Amino acid sequence: MPHYIGRFAPTPTGPLHFGSLVAALASYLDAKSHNGTWLLRIEDLDPPREDKAASTLIPKQLLKHGLKWDGDIEFQSHHGTRYERYLAQLKEQGLLFPCGCSRKTLAAHQGLHHGNCHSALDKPHAWRLVTPDEKWQFNDAVYGDNSQELAQVGDQVLKRKDGLYAYQLAVVVDDYESGINHVVRGLDLLDNTPRQLYLMQCLGIKAPHYLHIPLITNESGQKLSKQNQAQALDLHSVADNLLAALRFLRQTTPPMNMQQDTASILNWATQHWQVSKIPALKDGLIL
Ligand SMILES: [Zn+2]
Repeated sequence: MPHYIGRFAPTPTGPLHFGSLVAALASYLDAKSHNGTWLLRIEDLDPPREDKAASTLIPKQLLKHGLKWDGDIEFQSHHGTRYERYLAQLKEQGLLFPCGCSRKTLAAHQGLHHGNCHSALDKPHAWRLVTPDEKWQFNDAVYGDNSQELAQVGDQVLKRKDGLYAYQLAVVVDDYESGINHVVRGLDLLDNTPRQLYLMQCLGIKAPHYLHIPLITNESGQKLSKQNQAQALDLHSVADNLLAALRFLRQTTPPMNMQQDTASILNWATQHWQVSKIPALKDGLIL
């Protein structure tokens, strides 16, 4: 077996909330229980949506919970040259085309783009990946077999009209460049997986193993996020936060005398980590 390399890759739209702690903890425990490496990557691809302070706050919140990553923190905002290199490869393979289509034009096709639109390069354009009408399947450690028709996705944008890189490109390229072979993340990204697998195939990249975890939702069934006022983690109750996150993942919690400090809790949880206990819920768990 190759050495396990996993990661936690938050978007810095705000401080971590309980839902993001659960995702961080699951990826940490899965990596550590395999004697693996656990990396931290800040997905700061979209400056207008981000909170400048969050990029420095998130690592501090993780450390307070005893979740120490290996190596240096990576920032997607530093990877422009890297992304251009992969875009150039796809262009050379004839898999990328310039697209000047407006949202309005695409609205007539449910927002989906199918087929090269032969847009002019001297007008504002995005870069889209030629995406075939194929069914993609993959196996998830929690949710089992999943499949998706790529026709439901259409030709993906890899570089936006405003010059920003698309999440799909950045995540595939960065996971590959960091040697990541296990991806543990929230269920909201499960339906992004087939299009990412297709992009990997285009780039000749070996797919990682996937483990998606159920989402934590508020009472209206919405995923916790800054947009729906999810509370930042309370740093005065880090041990309790970890214990609550373990319960959400249906993991056993340590005995009382080991519940005081984060190191003891994490050690216990690493030794008792059981993927089979994670509930494969589609609707999320209400906080
Ligand atoms: Zn187009």
